[in-house]
Amino acid sequence: MKILVTGGAGYIGSHMVKLLGERSLDTLTYDNLSTGNKWAVLHGDLVVADLADKDTLRGVVKAFRPDAVIHFAASIVVPESVQNPLKYYRNNTANTLNLIETMVEFGVKKMVFSSTASVYGIPEKSPVPETEYMRPINPYGSAKMMTELVLRDLSFADDSFRYVSLRYFNVAGSDAKCRIGQAYKESTHLITRALKAANGEFSKLEIFGTDYPTSDGTCIRDYIHVDDLADAHIKALEYLDKGGKSEVFNCGYGHGYSVKEVINVVKKVTGIDFPVEEGARREGDPPVIVADSAKIRRNLGWKPLHDDLQYIVRTAWDWEKAKGIMVFKN
Ligand code: UDP
Repeated sequence: MKILVTGGAGYIGSHMVKLLGERSLDTLTYDNLSTGNKWAVLHGDLVVADLADKDTLRGVVKAFRPDAVIHFAASIVVPESVQNPLKYYRNNTANTLNLIETMVEFGVKKMVFSSTASVYGIPEKSPVPETEYMRPINPYGSAKMMTELVLRDLSFADDSFRYVSLRYFNVAGSDAKCRIGQAYKESTHLITRALKAANGEFSKLEIFGTDYPTSDGTCIRDYIHVDDLADAHIKALEYLDKGGKSEVFNCGYGHGYSVKEVINVVKKVTGIDFPVEEGARREGDPPVIVADSAKIRRNLGWKPLHDDLQYIVRTAWDWEKAKGIMVFKN
């Protein structure tokens, strides 16, 4: 199988390319390196180009003739999407349309799409099932939802075009061998920021809100290891390859941790008691987002290997330390 991976030089995409390499699948990474890095592409070739550049995209798809596309390339900073929505509709919706049109033009009929739990907005049910309405509360979630709708309508119009949309919950952790990891400097994610507080890069960690209706007043999230997430994509590819119909799956473990629980695990794993400040709520944070993951376990046979917050944090911490001493090629 030949797989085109857009965004394969980024955090999640690079773990995907690594796993595809371990499975000896032929991959081509298409990435504009806006947030990704050449050194992160551990397998196959890399084309440095933007999905907005349709001529290059067409040339690449025509020459490589992938059997399937795994589409990660996207802008992913939620607060930025609120400030600059057009960037998100351009990068995440319009550019994806370029990709899908190009796939249709060259007869590429299978896609695994990186969606997000943000499409649910503030879900009424917890754990949230895939049947919950999509009611995103920020442009990041809206742009991803719009792509899901494009895919849904296209596969409805042409049932030979099939896709799996994976709605990611809170992705964290790193490659156990420390070759790749979260390298995006502007990351706003809790585990990355807590580790930066532990290594002294930040003077303290601020908790965004302690008055939520949860057991300790802080928000609860479903943290999933990036290698388990990459494995879910392999299962999705296998499913599509066997003729599976278009589907949407949640990708989370099905249970959550509060911000305070995460901080305690980070302190335990690092052995560093960094300063923590209780601050105001961050706008747009739902109190609890936990996946109902029964469908992906049942339909794709997904069996996560790293459902262990200590392992997630330890691999992320090893990566944070390794980053400081590794010399990257670009
Ligand atoms: N959070 C926090 N301090 C930080 C970063 C995040 O208290 O410096 C909280 C955030 O408000 C949310 C949770 O940690 O409740 C997870 O946030 P993250 O940005 O990692 O993921 P999200 O669920 O927003 O996609």
